[in-house]
Amino acid sequence: MNCPKCQSDDVRRSRRRGPQEGLALRVKHQAPYRCRACGLRFVAEEEVTAESDRPLSIADYLGLRGWARRILTDQVIYGGIALLVILVVIIMVFVLAFGGIAPPVTGYQGE
Ligand SMILES: [Zn+2]
Repeated sequence: MNCPKCQSDDVRRSRRRGPQEGLALRVKHQAPYRCRACGLRFVAEEEVTAESDRPLSIADYLGLRGWARRILTDQVIYGGIALLVILVVIIMVFVLAFGGIAPPVTGYQGE
């Protein structure tokens, strides 16, 4: 892809400005680009690559790379969160049931 103004091929995908532009361009399979040579921002046909087509996973959001990326799939992360929530609930139930947080009651030794 070349810049329509200076014909440079040093163009980068630009961030879509707001949901309106994002949606309108997405429907037309277009995307904003910026020329790094002259700074021109222009809209062109979206270059469909495997990278841009693939939905972002949690690992992508976390910026994980390599082995962590392979191990921490969405299923693993969701499973881990679910397990953590269940653990917290179980701990809470125990704490509430046996008063683990409350300070030991004193003053009844004399009974
Ligand atoms: Zn240019």
